[in-house]
Amino acid sequence: MTSLQSEIEQRGRRIFELVDKYPESLFSKAGFYQRLMTLSMRDEQLKLQLFRFVAVLPSLHTSDEIIEHLQEYFADGHESRKVAEFLGVGIRLAGIVPRISGPILRWSVSEMARQFIAGRNPNDVMRTLRKRRTQNIGFTVDLLGEAVVSETEADEYGARYLDLLEGLARETKSWTDALENNSELFPVVNLSVKISALYSQISPDDPAETIAHLAPKLRPLLRRARELGAFINFDMESYAHKNGTLELFKTVFTEEEFKDWPHAGIVIQAYLRDSDADLRDLIEWGRARGTRFAVRLVKGAYWDYETTKSRQNGWDCPVYLQKPESDANFETLTRLLLENESIVTSAFGSHNVRSIAHAQALAEQLGIDRSRFEFQLLYGMAGPIKRALVEMGYRVREYCPVGELLPGMSYLVRRLLENTSNEGFLRAKFSENAPAEELLRDPREILRRSRNGVLPPPNATINMTTTTPKTQLGAHYENAPLTNFALPENQEKMRAALREQRNQFGRKVPLTINGEKIWTDKIFSSVNPSQPDQIVGYAAEAGIPEAERAVAAARPAFEKWRRTSFEERCQLLERAAEILERRRFELSALEVFEVGKPWAEADGDIREAIDFCTFYARQMRLIGRPRLTQNVPGEESYQHYWPRGVALVIAPWNFPMAILCGMVSAALVTGNTVIMKPSEQSVIIGSMLMEIYEEAGVPPGVLNFLNGKGSVIGAHMVDHKDVDLIAFTGSREVGLWIWETAGKTREGQRELKRVICEMGGKNAMIVDSDADLDEAIVDSIYSAFGFQGQKCSALSRLIVLEENYDRVMERLLGAAASVRVGNPEEPGIMVGPVIDEAAYRRILDYIDVGKNEATLAYQAKDLPPHGYFIPPTIFTGLKPNMQIACEEIFGPVLSVIKVRDLDEAIEVANGTDYALTGGFFSRSPANIERIKAQLEAGNVYINRPCTGAIVGRHPFGGFKMSGSGTKAGGKDYLLNFLIPRVVTENVARHGLAPEKTPEYRDEFLWPKH
Ligand SMILES: Cc1cc2nc3c(=O)[nH]c(=O)nc-3n(C[C@H](O)[C@H](O)[C@H](O)COP(=O)(O)OP(=O)(O)OC[C@H]3O[C@@H](n4cnc5c(N)ncnc54)[C@H](O)[C@@H]3O)c2cc1C
Repeated sequence: MTSLQSEIEQRGRRIFELVDKYPESLFSKAGFYQRLMTLSMRDEQLKLQLFRFVAVLPSLHTSDEIIEHLQEYFADGHESRKVAEFLGVGIRLAGIVPRISGPILRWSVSEMARQFIAGRNPNDVMRTLRKRRTQNIGFTVDLLGEAVVSETEADEYGARYLDLLEGLARETKSWTDALENNSELFPVVNLSVKISALYSQISPDDPAETIAHLAPKLRPLLRRARELGAFINFDMESYAHKNGTLELFKTVFTEEEFKDWPHAGIVIQAYLRDSDADLRDLIEWGRARGTRFAVRLVKGAYWDYETTKSRQNGWDCPVYLQKPESDANFETLTRLLLENESIVTSAFGSHNVRSIAHAQALAEQLGIDRSRFEFQLLYGMAGPIKRALVEMGYRVREYCPVGELLPGMSYLVRRLLENTSNEGFLRAKFSENAPAEELLRDPREILRRSRNGVLPPPNATINMTTTTPKTQLGAHYENAPLTNFALPENQEKMRAALREQRNQFGRKVPLTINGEKIWTDKIFSSVNPSQPDQIVGYAAEAGIPEAERAVAAARPAFEKWRRTSFEERCQLLERAAEILERRRFELSALEVFEVGKPWAEADGDIREAIDFCTFYARQMRLIGRPRLTQNVPGEESYQHYWPRGVALVIAPWNFPMAILCGMVSAALVTGNTVIMKPSEQSVIIGSMLMEIYEEAGVPPGVLNFLNGKGSVIGAHMVDHKDVDLIAFTGSREVGLWIWETAGKTREGQRELKRVICEMGGKNAMIVDSDADLDEAIVDSIYSAFGFQGQKCSALSRLIVLEENYDRVMERLLGAAASVRVGNPEEPGIMVGPVIDEAAYRRILDYIDVGKNEATLAYQAKDLPPHGYFIPPTIFTGLKPNMQIACEEIFGPVLSVIKVRDLDEAIEVANGTDYALTGGFFSRSPANIERIKAQLEAGNVYINRPCTGAIVGRHPFGGFKMSGSGTKAGGKDYLLNFLIPRVVTENVARHGLAPEKTPEYRDEFLWPKH
């Protein structure tokens, strides 16, 4: 054993001795809290439900509501018994509910919260701080409430911080340092600040903008803190905010005014893989600055969130996946901090005795006096450890959150999770009484032994990667990852791509028919809607002769293409996906210019196109071979599919790559030949898809690119006898015309035309009375105004229960006023320009209609002077039958409708011609079940935005006047492009039948000549 390890063990044992001198259960408060924790640790599933219930409780207003929720959350008989136990009643839930008083339950939860929240307000908290002072424990105070949705809320928060600072300084004027040694490093007043609470529009892809907004908000606070001799610490939140917070810290504290101020600190989270590099960078920065600063080293509080979020988006997970890795890294960073003690003051934020003992032992080894660093622990946790550390002569500071329960709920839930975590130190020591030698083991040793198979791998259930290729038969389908714009390298790539695309402005694109590039004497220009005088490119325009030529090329090409093996066709799609991925930033940048998409939306569009290619290739492999229908002796019956023929693909501009690519790829992989007609407004992006398929090796004539007016060539081809299938996404007006026209049979026509028709929506989301407004407001604003409301899935009717209406509106209008509108070339913009002048005029007309029909509740003012920018607009006082509540506007206009109850809400939501997307914000399990069953929408979203469908995960498409009921990105989508066929053969001869019948037969896969 190394001398450091033996020193750690010695110190650790000493801490345990002191801890055990004053035995205290992990859950020191008996009653409700103790029962909650015990039950949660026994049953993971129930824990989830219990914590959810605890989280909703403070927003319930009446006893009846509380009891209803209780019943809904724990209706299951098995669970209800356990819950009765948790409530301290020994009988079945159904029996006890009427006797439980709602207020008592609510009181129990707020009592529990008091365990972790040091005071409701600045006055209240002083009682706690005074008590701690007598125990020689210092404080850092944090204001609860991280989810600000508007600048009004952010400014209020900033003002409360200033008040808090003043109050603390006043009340503690006579307080002195507990150790009276090196006290100049540790001001008595210490404030912990959460950056996300000071600015509602932080965009991880734009740290410069974040700094530009936050620095002016912070300066008065820092200035005052300095005057009062206080210390300010920047807390660290989720990974998305990490780089911005670090940059902000370095920027502000390099400013002349604060450059020589030593009382600033920041958090480093050891569970992050980046943390070593970040800390080294900070230390280097500190040395260059020449003034001390502080770092609070923690493991990190958002582990579950980071792993879930990165898995959802297909990102590399930023946190370590094995607990001992975080522990080991905490120790590595402890060394780095202590070795740089000359410039950085350390605070070790941990309740883990091993981590604490390691810091103590190392400091001793490096000859650092124990008064020159401190241990920080959370209010309400690990009391005996704090006491032990004080007794050993160390500096101890307690992190004291202040605020009301409702804004403190996410903090409370994090603490409950931390206390019940299987991996956590506190549970192991105080609940499971793990022996000291186990608790003090070297985390590196644990990792080594688990690698050698001596111990099971920690966290064996988490597997972030799959090794099977995603298109392999039977493999779980994996989407392409989104680009993580929180990473500086991706921001840089996007900026470079934008510069490069700017240089390409004015490029010319031809038609492609039968593999030939064709120029016509008509050319039209595609402009940048943010600056219409900028021409993104010119495109040759097809007329009727070119349309005829395209059909004449696609027809014979079909004969060969239908006989090409589906495996070859799948590989074509996969090569196209690879090219899309390679050109990802370039294509995203082009979308920013040609259709005004914000960065992340443009990237999402290219990602979706990639997914369509890989998903449809996978699906084709699943259905490609003739398959036995039933195994019966003496007869073989095989079902299989033939392609339909020539497919005409007519795509819109709003998902200029994804929708076009999705329809084209589905048609190609199923063996149809294609004439693709992109929207005139996004023709340059459309031409890129042609280029990509050519590079991927599509044979001449199999895919033809025809740009031109829908009303001319589109109409001609829809009506053409040699076109067998039309895949259309666009407006209702055109969709219905296609549906009707395609139904008429022309002379010489071989097939009944198949029409795949996706049209618009008038999508509604309902906000229930118990909804989590932090989420409901942010998600509604994004659903309504993201990409300027030009998604067919966009929210256009927000239906709010009257019980909640005033609170929702106050926050909604504030949030709308905080949205960033501007040229999407800049990162972090939510609302850019609408597509063209016609759309601009049409939407303004609708706004005029709204002003006559309803009440204009909000309209943005500061818009860029050029370009087709429409101010985000909100109307209230609507009746469901008003024009703006019924017609699709396709712009950033939101109608809010107040309703009595959920019955009326559902009636209003379902009361339009459309059924595309719909949503519901609620925490009532029964109401959620009701909406799941009753909302008329092709895609129903609960407690999340109603836009952003992901291929394979959310097959997308509506019914009623929204579409023909097909689901793009769904398992059955390809069947729309195919003709099913069954071949049955009697294989019995004189009663003699073959023993075995193969599951697949490939002989008649495609028609022979
Ligand atoms: C005073 C103070 C201030 C804090 N401020 C912040 C802050 O600003 N920002 C912040 O994010 N956190 C902060 N924390 C940290 C956080 O809230 C937790 O308290 C802390 O991570 C618990 O670590 P521990 O060493 O006490 O316990 P331990 O039980 O030793 O460690 C638990 C931690 O290990 C990590 N972990 C759990 N499972 C795994 C796994 N499977 N793989 C890898 N790692 C895993 C997680 O970080 C988890 O919290 C602060 C903590 C304290 C005490």
